[in-house]
Amino acid sequence: MEKVFKIAVLKGDGIGPEVVDAALEVLNTISQIYGVKFEYREGLIGGIAIDETGDPLPDETLELCLNSDAVLLGAVGGPTWDNLPQDKKPERGLLKIRKALNLYANLRPVKVFDALIDSSPLKPEVVRGTDLLVVRELVSGIYYGEPRGIYEENGKRCGKNTMKYCEDEIERVTRKAFEIARKRRKKVTSVDKANVLDVSALWREVVNRVAKDYPDVELEHLYVDNAAMQLIRRPSTFDVIVTGNIFGDILSDEAGVLPGSLGMLPSASIGDKYALYEPVHGSAPDIAGQAIANPIATILSAGMMLKYSFNMDEASALIEKAIKETLNQGYRTADIYSEGTIKVDTKGMTQKIVENIKRLANK
Ligand code: NAD
Repeated sequence: MEKVFKIAVLKGDGIGPEVVDAALEVLNTISQIYGVKFEYREGLIGGIAIDETGDPLPDETLELCLNSDAVLLGAVGGPTWDNLPQDKKPERGLLKIRKALNLYANLRPVKVFDALIDSSPLKPEVVRGTDLLVVRELVSGIYYGEPRGIYEENGKRCGKNTMKYCEDEIERVTRKAFEIARKRRKKVTSVDKANVLDVSALWREVVNRVAKDYPDVELEHLYVDNAAMQLIRRPSTFDVIVTGNIFGDILSDEAGVLPGSLGMLPSASIGDKYALYEPVHGSAPDIAGQAIANPIATILSAGMMLKYSFNMDEASALIEKAIKETLNQGYRTADIYSEGTIKVDTKGMTQKIVENIKRLANK
């Protein structure tokens, strides 16, 4: 019997619908090649949800996600909703959905394609071959720790946040990182500040303990300040980087500039039961509606869905190979265009990727 996967599709605002439609076209192609069925069910999120229901994440949308095998999201936000109060903004819908689905591991792969190596701010010889993945703990750490706040002490105003991790929180995200490393080049770099912070000393202890269950995976520890330097000095030596919420927030943005364009960066947020896939970029209101957005980040996010939610590793690799091929053939959307290459719009890029998927699948 044909396998059926239920996908909640939340297109959102700005270029969200344009890039999600591109990813659905690629998924339809994969469905034909591999004989699986994807059932898409659309829900509202972000600004469009505010306009239609008054809520950036209506209950119906959440219910839809809770009853799906995976969620594919475009982007939310835009100038129309910028002046709303903090708790009514489109971005609030994103925070709420991540929390509601308990998506504790944020995966941000960073791959530098040879064809785009000149777009990187680093020298080609340094950045060539970079293919790393940051696993960031997403629902705990200093962004959530209590006590927090601004208060008065001895007549002065002070501010305080608490960086707290419990063993189980460290263990579950570390296990995810090791499991993922097993499907990649079998190396994990754990990033902490164990020379100064007690919470990091515990982090390191738990990581070392978990590592014993994965003797086939190499483990390296780096202090966060050193990790920030090494990411620029030797990016191609990293495979999986696992770290806490704040360090991961900063390091994944640092790593994200290596490929040279926001339009190329996919992401996944994963929990034990649910997973959400989305491009790293926002709704790009400056180019929305012009059909020129780069769909690659969202197509790669759909590829991550195949790998991490549906165990379709081969199909996921096929998508990546087709993207590489399309770039090698010289096709570029406006954000990655350079002289001597062929400029295409969102649909043109999607079409070329689909053609390459079909061709490579028949080899
Ligand atoms: P942005 O990522 O939307 O855009 C930054 C720049 O990159 C813009 O010049 C844009 O045109 C370009 N860009 C982004 N994605 C592109 C693509 N796929 N192809 C070609 N060019 C692309 O960031 P921003 O301008 O700071 O934010 C715009 C809105 O998006 C804001 O409302 C912000 O809050 C929201 N936002 C949402 C998310 C999300 O939904 N996860 C993430 C970031 C920002």
